[in-house]
Amino acid sequence: MSNILWLLAAALAGAVVAGAVMAWRWRRWQHQHNEQVDARIQSYNLELQIALDELAEKNRLLEQQNMLDTLSGIFNRACFDKRLTNELKRSRREKTTLGLVFIDIDHFKKINDTHGHLAGDAAIQQIAGILAASLKRSSDAAFRYGGEEFALLLPGTELAGCIELAEHVRQKISSTPIQIGQLSLAVTLSAGCYAAVADASTSSNDYIAAADSALYQAKHQGRNRTASASAIVTPITQESAHES
Ligand code: GH3
Ligand code: MG
Ligand code: MG
Repeated sequence: MSNILWLLAAALAGAVVAGAVMAWRWRRWQHQHNEQVDARIQSYNLELQIALDELAEKNRLLEQQNMLDTLSGIFNRACFDKRLTNELKRSRREKTTLGLVFIDIDHFKKINDTHGHLAGDAAIQQIAGILAASLKRSSDAAFRYGGEEFALLLPGTELAGCIELAEHVRQKISSTPIQIGQLSLAVTLSAGCYAAVADASTSSNDYIAAADSALYQAKHQGRNRTASASAIVTPITQESAHES
């Protein structure tokens, strides 16, 4: 009888040990399996992060391309509208002066008619390059507003600073003929300047209308000059030296 009890006790002990070993192995297998799953998830997460980063970079490049004018390479009209809205808000918030210069090439139709549209395109490209290169501050920006019309957005710039910059580019362009292959082309521009601190009721259209009306004045007074919304800046007599 006691032998049977011993046998039973030994069998029970064996079963407990075997159970413990199996449980330990199961836990070890589970642990290893979990580690493999974790490692796989980590690797998938890494791949996903890389793909997301690449996508974000492509989106950034695409957004940048969407802001550029394809002919001239400077910022386009859509970008101008967005930047003007943002700068207007900043001007209102920080009570700083926002300057705007509108520029239009004089008698541009004649350039197209006389030398062809490709020469006209080349003139637009070169003038856009000169405008962009003339900017002094990192917050300044040059835009192609329309056909042969450009805008300079100058945050934190008083009217006098806008006029100075407009005159600088106008004089530079009127005194240096544009080279298009063998062709040496005399080009002039007219500019209209406006600067103000935006208040609660100021809209983008107010800035555009004011700079546009100044540009209209410059055209009306004979072209190749800079005007501000309230006054003509460059008298006709000053121009004879540049035009000769
Ligand atoms: P104004 O001195 O009054 O400005 O005279 P303008 O001849 O320049 O008159 P306007 O500004 O009205 O003429 C713009 C012309 O620019 C009309 C259009 O044929 C031409 N144009 C517009 N976009 C382009 C372009 O991308 N390339 C070329 N080559 N010509 C363009
Ligand atoms: Mg025009
Ligand atoms: Mg024109």
